[in-house]
Amino acid sequence: MNYDYIKESAYECLQCIKSPCQKGCPLNNDIRGLIKLFREEKYKEAYNLLLETTILPSVCGRICPKSRQCEGKCVKTRINNGKSIEIGKIEAFIGDMALKNNWSINSLPLNNKRIAVVGGGPAGLTCAAFLRRNGYNVTIYERHDYLGGLLYHGIPDFRLDKTLLRKVIDKILELGIDVRLNQSIGKDFTLEDLENEYDAVFLGFGANGSSKMNIPGEDLKGVYGGNELLETGNHPDYEGKVVVVSGGGNVAIDVACTIKKANAKKVYVIYRRSEKEAPAEENEIREAKDEGVEFLFQNNILGIYGDKTVEKVEVIKTELVKKEGDDRLSPVNIEGSSYYLPCDYVVMAIGSHPEEFIVNNLGLELDKRGRILIDKDGYTSKEKVFAGGDLAGTIGTVAFAARSGRDAAYAIMKYLEKM
Ligand SMILES: Cc1cc2nc3c(=O)[nH]c(=O)nc-3n(C[C@H](O)[C@H](O)[C@H](O)COP(=O)(O)OP(=O)(O)OC[C@H]3O[C@@H](n4cnc5c(N)ncnc54)[C@H](O)[C@@H]3O)c2cc1C
Repeated sequence: MNYDYIKESAYECLQCIKSPCQKGCPLNNDIRGLIKLFREEKYKEAYNLLLETTILPSVCGRICPKSRQCEGKCVKTRINNGKSIEIGKIEAFIGDMALKNNWSINSLPLNNKRIAVVGGGPAGLTCAAFLRRNGYNVTIYERHDYLGGLLYHGIPDFRLDKTLLRKVIDKILELGIDVRLNQSIGKDFTLEDLENEYDAVFLGFGANGSSKMNIPGEDLKGVYGGNELLETGNHPDYEGKVVVVSGGGNVAIDVACTIKKANAKKVYVIYRRSEKEAPAEENEIREAKDEGVEFLFQNNILGIYGDKTVEKVEVIKTELVKKEGDDRLSPVNIEGSSYYLPCDYVVMAIGSHPEEFIVNNLGLELDKRGRILIDKDGYTSKEKVFAGGDLAGTIGTVAFAARSGRDAAYAIMKYLEKM
């Protein structure tokens, strides 16, 4: 990280009274205060300020879609050719300073209340940290033998260094959080077990199943789910192969780049809308193109064909039309424009959902997309059970998941105070 460059950028901050950048941050970080302290070289104070709202500065500073969050709201973007203050880099710099200098995270002495957190991703880790800092006993139950969730097995190394991530997680655990690894809800224990043993439960076990397009050929050998590929790491041999990735978000881009780096001959990302409407960050699309990934925007997959294994996809071009009541332009297939694209593998990266066999057996109310229904504070339909993150359908970014974990932590404290 170039210190002189970010320092220069910090000095360009206008210190706007209304702090639009803070409003753009899902965690509501005090960015104006952060930049002021950074400029004054009061780094530890800057870290403590960040800790009021987040425990993931080194992570969020690097991988938040900043152009759609804090940096996208920076006034400078309007007067500086679209270029904002380097908020993410400043946040990451302070987070990294804390790791390097081993600055501790303050916490209150333990009380006698015990909370179980299921899932060690950004939502669970944040919920656990805010509870523990406020004196509560917390145990995290995690199905893998590591914590971090999608930070670990979703976002690839070339975007988030795993050695750094481990340090971030270790710092959180230093607070004194108990961790039970290789423990899966629905298999090794039930929600009822936790309800019986703990004063409150937070569910943050993510949405890790890849959605399907419901088109012919999705069951052929050679069709994969993007989430499953990244989580299990069970990739086929891509050497010299042609791979089609369906989707236009983070998962599609990360999967496509991972596959291209594994020596695939050709990787196509097929997305129904235009590049401008793609949910992935502009710079991620640019970097993927630099990597050699080819994008087919305004194209839609109609079917996957082959004799037992994938041989080709049928693709059709789309036009974008404004539909009554819709914020986004809708893609409509252009009749007579379909064509076949030969390929060896197809990866679905069009969205994700919680694993049905788990959520359907929790006895909790779900929304119509099969996610756990929560109110604005993270309360589920069951007393003393809270939820957050991707599992509950919060906007699928790390900062939104962390925010829901933090909100739930405060709601749990409020609930327990009344007991
Ligand atoms: C490929 C990819 C790239 C992404 N890139 C970005 C990005 O650049 N920026 C960004 O802001 N967001 C990004 N996201 C989205 C972001 O990672 C998620 O929104 C966020 O991680 C959700 O956090 P979570 O804690 O709700 O769930 P997760 O991160 O999925 O964590 C859930 C945890 O629960 C555990 N678990 C699952 N099932 C069980 C079970 N039965 N019992 C116990 N534990 C269980 C999991 O192992 C995991 O540790 C990306 C997502 C993907 C898939």
